[in-house]
Amino acid sequence: MTETNIYDDSLVYPEQLEKRPPCQANCPIGTDIRGWVGLIAQRKKLGYTRNEAYLRAWEHLTEFNPFPATTGRVCPHPCTVECNRTEKDGPIAVNALERFLGDWAIKKELPTPKLESDTKHESIGVIGAGPAGLSFAYQMARRNYQVIVYEKASEPGGMLRYGIPGYRLPKDTLHAEIQRIVDLGVEIKLNATVGESVSVDQIRSRHDVLFLGIGAQLSRQLGVPGEDGGGCWTGTDYLSCVNRGQPADLGQRVAVVGGGNTAIDAARAARRSGADVTVLYRRTRDEMPAIGSEVDDAMAEDVRFEFLVAPIRIERRDESIRSVVIQRMELGPPDTSGRRSPRPIEGSEAEIPFDSVIVAISQVPDWQHLGGLNPSGDRLKTTQSGQVANTLWAGGDTLNPGIAGLAIAQGRKAALDVHARLRGLPQPEDGDGSATPVARVKPDYYEHQDPLAVPSRAVGTWLSEPDREIHQTISERAFLEETSRCLSCGRCFGCEHCWTYCNPGGFTRLEEVQPGTYFSLSIEMCEGCRKCVEVCPCGFLSVQPQPV
Ligand SMILES: Cc1cc2nc3c(=O)[nH]c(=O)nc-3n(C[C@H](O)[C@H](O)[C@H](O)COP(=O)(O)OP(=O)(O)OC[C@H]3O[C@@H](n4cnc5c(N)ncnc54)[C@H](O)[C@@H]3O)c2cc1C
Ligand code: SF4
Ligand code: SF4
Ligand code: SF4
Repeated sequence: MTETNIYDDSLVYPEQLEKRPPCQANCPIGTDIRGWVGLIAQRKKLGYTRNEAYLRAWEHLTEFNPFPATTGRVCPHPCTVECNRTEKDGPIAVNALERFLGDWAIKKELPTPKLESDTKHESIGVIGAGPAGLSFAYQMARRNYQVIVYEKASEPGGMLRYGIPGYRLPKDTLHAEIQRIVDLGVEIKLNATVGESVSVDQIRSRHDVLFLGIGAQLSRQLGVPGEDGGGCWTGTDYLSCVNRGQPADLGQRVAVVGGGNTAIDAARAARRSGADVTVLYRRTRDEMPAIGSEVDDAMAEDVRFEFLVAPIRIERRDESIRSVVIQRMELGPPDTSGRRSPRPIEGSEAEIPFDSVIVAISQVPDWQHLGGLNPSGDRLKTTQSGQVANTLWAGGDTLNPGIAGLAIAQGRKAALDVHARLRGLPQPEDGDGSATPVARVKPDYYEHQDPLAVPSRAVGTWLSEPDREIHQTISERAFLEETSRCLSCGRCFGCEHCWTYCNPGGFTRLEEVQPGTYFSLSIEMCEGCRKCVEVCPCGFLSVQPQPV
């Protein structure tokens, strides 16, 4: 059957159509960055005072992410990678903005409002008070469910508390954001190891739904001779000691094996103890999974890097470590991770003297005592929203070690799914979709504005004040300037161009404007000249053929 063309292609008419911006598409949490930044940037047009705009922006941001002050500090901000402002004069510093607003809310001691007033009768259990479990608990508690979190450590926060050192994420910042979740009514039972102090069967019978957020807390070993014994640490054990303020004697020469965030944090923490630290990594800098700026900072602190080497033996003198025997590597073709795989070079062994070795190559979930929840011990298989079985959901590093943002996202996704199932609501949309390409946006219509410079302490003081935060929160002035750089890709921001250029007067300014809605369009006035589409800087106006 031939299709009848019901459109007259010679005439094209504008339509007001919101599109997804690349920042949101690339944030693992799917945060509506354009939305919350726009509330501040457009506050005058919207008739908000500065404080009203901040409050609305914070409420909008925390719909997605209960930890903005935390992620604003530690997230590697994939949201900025394809920011449409990049080519013009630099991407928007989304994480610095997020951090400012998160800190502002902490200072103001803002409570998080509940979304629903009717108390739900179902009881929700969460195993693990890391970002995945807490994000899940937060979203459920806001919907007025009774939530109990079981946490084996003496403080909540997971790897944010016991992995990431205080000079990157101060404990009081993390504490304040967790306290807000507790203030919603979430009960966190500390020193409660599920599988030991409370059994899996006990919590299964107590709760209607369980969320598993146990992370990946078990460190993999190198599996080389000499590894067992004094002087050998895992990265997470060493960092946990440092973050608990416990003594950890490493000696003067420390080798750190690995190329991820744990390796870099362990190396920098060891530098702070006064040790000479060398990171041994079997690929090159380009393949390192660690956050690039953290590697730069480690280099600035004189952490040494030996690339393309792998330890093959640890030599000991009595009980102490004497040296590490390494083998040089070369890179072969890419492996399943897409990174070029290292291959040993025969006869290239060398011995380097060290007093201790920190192994930080990778972590896996610890299923000990939790067998009932994952009898095979293999990686959990889940649906898109993290459902493992009828009443069991999981998220975060338990599924696959990643970043905090991903753990927060998976906790949120699971909570929205659980809520929809328990209340018989339609399944939430997963929010994936193509982003507004830069081709649609017209950066030339915006004025040049220099990108933000994030303030940091002088490098010379980093090691002498080892626990003090290095990178600082931006000033309010810088915050306001940076929000005004956002192009509002794919969403009207009320620039008036369409209204100014439309000769027949197709656009009318709305008396009551809303974020993203400033002008109405009367298509019957349109002469099809497309001028408005040409001059709409953010790509909100598109063309559509006119039905015949
Ligand atoms: C050293 C290090 C540095 C990192 N740096 C960054 C960074 O800069 N930026 C970033 O975005 N991400 C970073 N990450 C990754 C990020 O911290 C993790 O992706 C994130 O914490 C995972 O969250 P989670 O809730 O899944 O697990 P976790 O944070 O590991 O939390 C799991 C929680 O479950 C608890 N638990 C485990 N078993 C039980 C049990 N049987 N009973 C009760 N409780 C239990 C644990 O005690 C823990 O509190 C880093 C990770 C590490 C290790
Ligand atoms: S969580 Fe990370 S990716 Fe998402 S908006 Fe914040 S900094 Fe960007
Ligand atoms: S300019 Fe703004 S809306 Fe566009 S990608 Fe960058 S942060 Fe997102
Ligand atoms: S031209 Fe300006 S006011 Fe008109 S739709 Fe585009 S962004 Fe909105």
